[in-house]
Amino acid sequence: MNDELIARLRQLERAGRPLEPGGARRRKLRDAVIAATERFLRPIRTQKAYHETSDRGAGLLSRPIGEKGLPIRDAIALLEDNILRPGSSPTAPGHLAYIPGGGIYHSALGDFFAAVTNKYSGIFFTGPGPVRMENMLVRWSADLVGYPASAGGHLASGGSLATLAIIATAREAHQLKGADFSQAVVYLTTQAHHCIEKAIRIAGMGEAPVRFIEMDGHYRMRPDALARAIETDRRNGLKPWLILAAAGTTDTGAVDPLDAIADIAQREQCWYHVDAAYGGYFLLTEHGRRLLKGLERSDSVVLDPHKGLFIPFGLGIALVRNESLMAAAHSYTGNYMQDAMRAQNEVSPADTSPELTKHFRALRMWLPLILEGTAPFAAALEEKLLLARYFHREVQKLGFEVGPEPDLSIVTFRWAPAGMPLARANELNQTIVDRIRQDGRVFLTSTMLGETFVIRLAVLNFRTHRSAIDLALRILGECLSELPAVGR
Ligand SMILES: *Cc1c(COP(=O)(O)O)cnc(C)c1O
Repeated sequence: MNDELIARLRQLERAGRPLEPGGARRRKLRDAVIAATERFLRPIRTQKAYHETSDRGAGLLSRPIGEKGLPIRDAIALLEDNILRPGSSPTAPGHLAYIPGGGIYHSALGDFFAAVTNKYSGIFFTGPGPVRMENMLVRWSADLVGYPASAGGHLASGGSLATLAIIATAREAHQLKGADFSQAVVYLTTQAHHCIEKAIRIAGMGEAPVRFIEMDGHYRMRPDALARAIETDRRNGLKPWLILAAAGTTDTGAVDPLDAIADIAQREQCWYHVDAAYGGYFLLTEHGRRLLKGLERSDSVVLDPHKGLFIPFGLGIALVRNESLMAAAHSYTGNYMQDAMRAQNEVSPADTSPELTKHFRALRMWLPLILEGTAPFAAALEEKLLLARYFHREVQKLGFEVGPEPDLSIVTFRWAPAGMPLARANELNQTIVDRIRQDGRVFLTSTMLGETFVIRLAVLNFRTHRSAIDLALRILGECLSELPAVGR
């Protein structure tokens, strides 16, 4: 009986051996992956920003997961055909759509190192190094924002999850219980990112009344209108709770008047959150610091290193002015945690976020910053600001109508010949956007500002330089020459 057990164990150990590849096998796998990424990176300057394919990666499903594995060559062929080609390419210089992402190489190596070593990063007791690294990056970001020593936060997978943790913190900080939710008023503009209302709903507060505050001609919240709305709600016996401003809206990149809103939040004792997912890291530039003045007076901020620091997708930061409030909203206990709880002298991410076991995501941010310093990031961000201004100037020369001079790095524009009815102009601009996407050399998206369809150009990819903007301008010129004569 016992010998049977031992024989079976020997058999299973052998069968599981592929999970621990030896040196030669590791080299083979690594070489194949590195070769594929080099094939990807070499022509990156001319990579299409959008690729329309008929099957949209469905070929991946032709090889289901089975008992037996696949040679690495075949696996990489599947990736190249079905993952890399279809859809948008956030790594391409011509990716000027939505809020462009990054993908700096150093982070890939950080991810590799983090995965091979798999250090635990949720709790200080078991992962003191990773937790110190995460807290160091949170502190570095809090210093950029201008928060005091009481501040804290955590690295999340993105801006949406960071926002959720902050909404939960704001709910607990104001001690709101179920019976209060229908009285706790939220103030934002129609330009606020949808992840905020989503977070409020997930946090159980879907009943909270939402006031959309009037904006000025630059799509920025009007502080006078905010003050009036709060006053009205107070008069009606409601409890003004949460003011949400944006340091860079997704549609137009507008920055709300953060300082003036801070005055109101302070006076009214509302929780003041600033969504700086897109615009936050422009704080590394002189222009950004001037524009984002007042951010330091907020109660919480969300930043997205996977946007403004060009880190690959999967990194947002939730910051609060008073870390203990975030800890109060996310504290937990468990008998199986007793060893960890006794050995804390550094706040653990598990204490301030919904996560416990988590990706060691600090390394993908720390490695590029420690290796290159902040100077190249600051330079790249200033370049993006200036590229947007350059485009704003040049696209007018083609005859496009433009939105306001950009606050940050997003330009809105449209083709609107004098006397053309709005509906017709909207159609025409949709045609232009579709054409650009089908061409694929650059990728632009559109949005609605009120009833008006506008095209957006967003510059935030570190690979986007003047040549990519010139290419976008050339393609727009080509589109115009192809429009039906009535449209010109
Ligand atoms: C991208 C973005 C978000 C959402 O962040 P994710 O990282 O996509 O989850 C929120 N607000 C603004 C202004 C954004 O640009």
